[in-house]
Amino acid sequence: MNTDTTTAHEIAMRIDADTAVARWKDWRWQVGHSVRSIETFERALGITFPPEERAELERTVERFPLCVTPYYLSLIDPEDFRNDPVFMQCFPSVRELEVEDYDLEDPLAEDADMTAPCITHRYPDRVLFLVSNLCAMYCRHCTRKRKVGDIDSVPADEEIEAGLAYIREHPRVRDVLLSGGDPLMLPDETLDRILTELDAIEHVEVVRIGTRVPVVLPYRITADLARMLGTHHPLWINTHFNHPKEITSSSEAALSILADAGIPLGNQTVLLANVNDCPRLQRTLAHKLVRNRVRPYYLYQCDLSEGLSHFRTSVARGIEIVENLVGHTSGFAVPTYVVDAPGGGGKIPLMPTYVLSWADNKVVLRNYEGVITTYQEPKNYCPVYCDGNCAECTLQLKEENAEEPGPVGIAKILSDLDETSSLVPENTERMERRIDA
Ligand SMILES: *Cc1c(COP(=O)(O)O)cnc(C)c1O
Repeated sequence: MNTDTTTAHEIAMRIDADTAVARWKDWRWQVGHSVRSIETFERALGITFPPEERAELERTVERFPLCVTPYYLSLIDPEDFRNDPVFMQCFPSVRELEVEDYDLEDPLAEDADMTAPCITHRYPDRVLFLVSNLCAMYCRHCTRKRKVGDIDSVPADEEIEAGLAYIREHPRVRDVLLSGGDPLMLPDETLDRILTELDAIEHVEVVRIGTRVPVVLPYRITADLARMLGTHHPLWINTHFNHPKEITSSSEAALSILADAGIPLGNQTVLLANVNDCPRLQRTLAHKLVRNRVRPYYLYQCDLSEGLSHFRTSVARGIEIVENLVGHTSGFAVPTYVVDAPGGGGKIPLMPTYVLSWADNKVVLRNYEGVITTYQEPKNYCPVYCDGNCAECTLQLKEENAEEPGPVGIAKILSDLDETSSLVPENTERMERRIDA
């Protein structure tokens, strides 16, 4: 057996001495031997919890189930498990039962924005398509914690079909993001069928898969899977590495199979207290990712889902991390730090402040070193006036069938072709006074 650590070998033997050696790298064996109880977890890792804590852990697991692959479990350091980032991501904390008064079951209002079974349609041109409710490992920080382990919500074939029908009927959807659960937990044939259906929809230009399989079940990334995925280009994959320790030789092999199949790889990290809330750690993670042809995509502020309060950092910490990346390392190693707006407003990018001031013809900027500089605005810049009629414009876009919907939001008040000059929230007291007067 060629496991990633020496403790992995011991753990494998404790889980199933008869078959572990021969089948450790068989993903079906891994799934079949997933650890789902505190007792098995203790036995596998060779640890024991004091009785009182154990009772509380059992209560936590009743509300939020436990599931971890032997592979992922084997990355935990049994000597210092309580501080181990892998342990903290896969093993329940009794603090999950602490609910703050601002915590929400569905903070991103994904259910409210469901426009068809399995479809959350939040942005104009792209949808989230929840095609699987299965995960190889139940992340303790899951934003969809409300649904974890909920067998009833595994989408039926008719629901997938209804989701596909919705996408067919909405020509503005050019980007489909397959998520779940984990889409790579579906059988190859099921995934192949869904991807084939999406390929057949003319207006769908790209498909993305969000998956944690390369992190928690890297052996699922087989040559057969990659070959199948490679027939569905342009297909992008986003993985979910949170800590440099998760990038093992096995996960590197999985990433390499995907990259060799021509799939552009990105990574989404969740900022987690006491797991990865450190600028130096984040820089190391970014460097390890780009060495494996994975581009850091998003760094997420932890959502306001119930059961996650112990994982949350301040937003300030996130900004400080970005401050330590921009300029200090390769531009493509810097993820965009985002807060997913509670209530369903979507992702909002946050950056340290680089624009210090503005005057008529000058912008005052600062760089990562603290250098303050000015950028002289051009004296005679005259942008092309835009009335939205691209066919008559001197700028050559000349896209066939370019059907541009009008601008929305801030883009709308900035544009030439719309006379709206301000966006005013409804129901302000001031506006009501005007109506009354
Ligand atoms: C994150 C997300 C997307 C994709 O957003 P990008 O910024 O394009 O990566 C789409 N739909 C929903 C509901 C999302 O949460």
